[in-house]
Amino acid sequence: MMFSLLTYLLPNQIVQGLTGAYCKFTALKNVGYRGTHSSPIHISLPAMKVTVLPALSDNYMYLISDEITKEAAIVDPVAPDTVWETVKNEGVNLTKVLTTHHHWDHAGGNEELVKKSPNKLEVYGGDKRIGALTNHVKDGDKFKIGDINVECLFTPCHTTGHICYYLTDQKGQSAVFTGDTLFIAGCGRFFEGNAQQMYTALVEKLSNLPDDTLVFCGHEYTQQNLKFARHVEKENKDILKAIADAEEKRSQGLPTVPSTISREKKINPFMRVMMETVQGHANCGDAVSTMQTIRKEKDSFKA
Ligand SMILES: [Zn+2]
Repeated sequence: MMFSLLTYLLPNQIVQGLTGAYCKFTALKNVGYRGTHSSPIHISLPAMKVTVLPALSDNYMYLISDEITKEAAIVDPVAPDTVWETVKNEGVNLTKVLTTHHHWDHAGGNEELVKKSPNKLEVYGGDKRIGALTNHVKDGDKFKIGDINVECLFTPCHTTGHICYYLTDQKGQSAVFTGDTLFIAGCGRFFEGNAQQMYTALVEKLSNLPDDTLVFCGHEYTQQNLKFARHVEKENKDILKAIADAEEKRSQGLPTVPSTISREKKINPFMRVMMETVQGHANCGDAVSTMQTIRKEKDSFKA
């Protein structure tokens, strides 16, 4: 018996809390996802569609489709069978794999995905440790998914070869896929790097993207991150509002992605290390040592 993989569950809704972004989401019900951490959803932008696919216990994969050419790319396809089923149901042509970093819960499905592909896939990434890699990219490298422009942002720290992918569609809407560098209200652990590198990634690179850029991160860690954010800045009303928004979404089993760059600059303590309030909490007088101090505190923070 054939199941329709993606069945519409809710009518289109405007994503709450996203100002200025032309962005609708549709929640989807999928028998194959029963038991995973969130419902898959579609995010429809003017000329690109992002299908948010939950995987493992808290990971996200993202299928990005160009609405005109139907060319598609997948970000961090750790669950290849889910990817291929979705590709088939969406009627798109998967040509590219965008790998953020080499950790198994992001890159661990690359080889199997490539093996099961009817056509040759290009596998992008910034680290030799990434399986099935065909296109080793560096900062500023550009390519296309159909008519969507992609720029690679080199953001080492969580791992030495971490890449964020910055996409702009033909109507000018942008989105960034941040892997384990930037999370909603948080950032990745400094496994292979230091506070200066994370400062460069979050404050000098990602904060300078257009404010309405949608942020799609690698894990559903939002509620834990927001508890720490509130601990750092108790008076920050934007954090309190984000906590309420996240609670509402999670109570319905919905992902908390996407956020936006402007919102992250208001709620994410790691993007706010230049602020007096955050430096005061860390008892540090500069942004980089504040980054170091609050990351260390977060590593053992119990909400
Ligand atoms: Zn990782």
